[in-house]
Amino acid sequence: MAGWQATNSLVTLPIKMTPMQPLVRTSSAFYACLSSSSYQAEFRSAVRCIDTTSPYDSLLSGGWVKLICGASFEDVADVRNLSLVYTLAGVDCIDCAADPSVVKAVREGVDAATGIAVTLYPSGVLPVHKPWIMVSINDDEDVHFRKAVFDPSRCPTSCARPCEHICPASAIMLSASLGTSLTGGVLNDRCYGCGRCISVCPLGLIGANSYTRNSKDVSNLLNSGTVDAVEIHTNARHMEAFRNLWQSLEGSTECLKLIAISLPDVGDNMLATMWDLYNVMKPTLKALNLWQLDGRPMSGDIGAGATKAAVRLAAKVAAFTDRPPGFLQLAGGTNFHTVKAMAALGLFQPGYERNLLEKPESERKACATIAGVAYGGYARKILRQILASLNSDNGSSKLEDHPVLFLTAVKEANYLVAMLKEH
Ligand code: SF4
Ligand code: SF4
Repeated sequence: MAGWQATNSLVTLPIKMTPMQPLVRTSSAFYACLSSSSYQAEFRSAVRCIDTTSPYDSLLSGGWVKLICGASFEDVADVRNLSLVYTLAGVDCIDCAADPSVVKAVREGVDAATGIAVTLYPSGVLPVHKPWIMVSINDDEDVHFRKAVFDPSRCPTSCARPCEHICPASAIMLSASLGTSLTGGVLNDRCYGCGRCISVCPLGLIGANSYTRNSKDVSNLLNSGTVDAVEIHTNARHMEAFRNLWQSLEGSTECLKLIAISLPDVGDNMLATMWDLYNVMKPTLKALNLWQLDGRPMSGDIGAGATKAAVRLAAKVAAFTDRPPGFLQLAGGTNFHTVKAMAALGLFQPGYERNLLEKPESERKACATIAGVAYGGYARKILRQILASLNSDNGSSKLEDHPVLFLTAVKEANYLVAMLKEH
């Protein structure tokens, strides 16, 4: 990325371990609104496409949709509301930062969504399934695991603050009220490391701190029973780093449902790299595995063209008939245009289960070649204004306490999720 000034040191970040609190039910104010039959009817029509199959069935059928909250995004109020809305919209998995307080926020959102679904469908089968909760970690320096940093006292008050305007997460807040220099800076919980502020600063004042999570804390989190899946981001430049991370997790991945490897396009070495990574995991791999093909990291909200790299990478990997086991899933640049682009490249083809290659061919299940799509920046972008309006008033930070905004958010999210599920 142009203008990128990575810090040289990779910091190991301790995870704040907090005891799990009881899950919070959604508010009585919203339940009062739900008693209105017209609101109920609108809500039911807003979630029209929800499928009731399990996340595993979605993987097999090619209808798997994952919400990426952001590996470094730790604003728990937004994470909770995103999880609430996208659970009702029908996602199969919610991917978040490997921090207990963030996982707790996801669980609260999912629980609130389930409570609403029970109210809407008191006597029938629930129209939502609980999405799997996934946490993201990294083995090496990675753009998803960094935080922008700068000293605002060095900024001239005359600066037009392009950093503040370009930030897709509203993670930079500056003020000139104290006279000759700016105050404020980066809101650490909201910064997810996209790097756009870095490249627009005319004075080159913005750098970044990269980090990895403490592996012992990650193991404790995986063993806590609060998460279903883990995703390891690797650029596979240092296989030893991946091997060390995998070994450090030994014993704590066995109870998980899914292990995802997030990998960018590594060019001609793609197939060999996938095999190298798989062979490290294979001796102790007990869960399903998935390849997250990270076409153009953290770019889905930029525009239509961003999706091209993700779809191209998926087509390239899908063409490897001798690839290692594991579902294939797109990410990195995915947005409103992704499903159409996948169809244009013929990616909606049937395949067969590749997770257990050791199974005799006759026992393998038929499944889609591409299991699904993960949406990150774009999924958050379409709710950005709604969530920002909650942050800017003094009312409740729970989205369902604002019934009109809530309904709008669920409709927007459902529209995105339905694009793949209804294809
Ligand atoms: S532009 Fe990106 S890197 Fe900069 S503060 Fe915002 S989220 Fe962080
Ligand atoms: S663009 Fe650079 S100089 Fe201007 S306010 Fe942002 S960090 Fe400061």
